[in-house]
Amino acid sequence: MVNGYQFRLYPTQEQAQTLLRWIGCQRLIYNAKVSEDRYYRRFRKDQLALTGLPVPIDQTYSQYITERTSFLREVPSIVLRNGTAKWMQAYRRYFVKLGNRPTFQKQCGKQSVWLTSELFSFNPERDFSTGELTGYKLHVGTRKFPVGELKVKAHRTFEIPASIHIAIHAGKWFLSFNAQDDTLADFKEEALLSHYQQYGIEELESMTLGGDRGVAKPLVTSNGQIFDLREVQKQRIQKEYRRKLRWQRKAAKRQKNSRNQKKAYRKVGRYQQYESNVREDFAHQTSHTLVENPNTHIYIFEDLKTKNMTKRPKVQQDEQGRWQKNGARAKAGLNKVILTSAWGKVVTYTAYKALRAGKIVIQVPPQHSSQECAKCGYTDSGNRPSQALFHCLRCGHERNADYNAAVVIKKRGIQWLKEHHEPKAKKSVKLYRSQLGSERSEVTPVENPISRAGGNTNTQGSRKQEVLAARLETPTSAV
Ligand SMILES: [Zn+2]
Repeated sequence: MVNGYQFRLYPTQEQAQTLLRWIGCQRLIYNAKVSEDRYYRRFRKDQLALTGLPVPIDQTYSQYITERTSFLREVPSIVLRNGTAKWMQAYRRYFVKLGNRPTFQKQCGKQSVWLTSELFSFNPERDFSTGELTGYKLHVGTRKFPVGELKVKAHRTFEIPASIHIAIHAGKWFLSFNAQDDTLADFKEEALLSHYQQYGIEELESMTLGGDRGVAKPLVTSNGQIFDLREVQKQRIQKEYRRKLRWQRKAAKRQKNSRNQKKAYRKVGRYQQYESNVREDFAHQTSHTLVENPNTHIYIFEDLKTKNMTKRPKVQQDEQGRWQKNGARAKAGLNKVILTSAWGKVVTYTAYKALRAGKIVIQVPPQHSSQECAKCGYTDSGNRPSQALFHCLRCGHERNADYNAAVVIKKRGIQWLKEHHEPKAKKSVKLYRSQLGSERSEVTPVENPISRAGGNTNTQGSRKQEVLAARLETPTSAV
């Protein structure tokens, strides 16, 4: 089974400078491909010479290396080539309907460079006395463009990958890659589903766990467990959040694009980091605890669309065109809670960890799960006298509201499993892999009838080149 790895990386200042240049150049090539593609798609209709000719989607990048962009010669050509390969991969995802057309990569947030095996090697590190393998040293660069040995903090062993990503996020460097891990079991979801369908209702009842994700408590399960952040973590998050706001205000007042503003934004990123680290950690620990439980094999969650739920409310105007209150402020508060409670992550992580253990996660429709009685099934908004309490108007069943919802979700999951026959239609990752080839694809260029040769050939070509070169100077501007 293929497993993802991420380790901290500790480059020296000099190495960091080189890597930053590589990141920038790869992004520039990627963005140049995006604007070139947009250019061709926009003007092929108007230009008589181009009518009917397909838009070239290939890996050529030499047209971007001009006198004005001579700095591109100071990085290995493979870094640039990988930029176009990344763009082509994005385009192929679009062709198999797995995403939109490639768009411009931004200069803010996490930045990374994709390196293939020509540019790095892992050298084994051995214990002096015993000769035992203790870890690897990452060597990056070529003879012409050396970066040197980078310090990696690897907290577990791994197979040597064919390609790696080196990324910087909020001032911290990371190494990440995919590699084969044969110690992990590889269960198929469909096979597991039909396996669990054979059981009777009583057996399923005992091996199933329902989970309700809420605003007050991130997760409450049908066996009465409550998963929540620790009190001290909540306090620290509040504190870091206030610091973040303070630096955001400071940054807004500073001169745009100045060094001081960038400094302030770096601080903003750092204070944001604590919260997302805690959230990530919570999701991993919770999913681990859930899957570790030997008595449960099926996990049921509500199918919540976090993205839809955290959308901004629409702006509202009255007849005279005056702006009306739309509750955006209140919604922003709720959104923050939804996002910070790591709803989505807990389910995603539980799903992949469960699959390795031969267990499954099922997501059921969430409608009215908080108003339905777990005992008699009566659904009414009056069943909830308060946020915390559930009281059934028909049978008088009274429980903690989150716990009641967890039991309802569990019931729905078992019902779905018993009625379920057709495999759920979903976008297959297999399709993507088979059509994309391996990640380290040496993609053969598509034959393109449109000539791109610039400089000394026809005038039309060189005019195009000029426009492209002009675009290159501002690669982030939208076309
Ligand atoms: Zn009831």
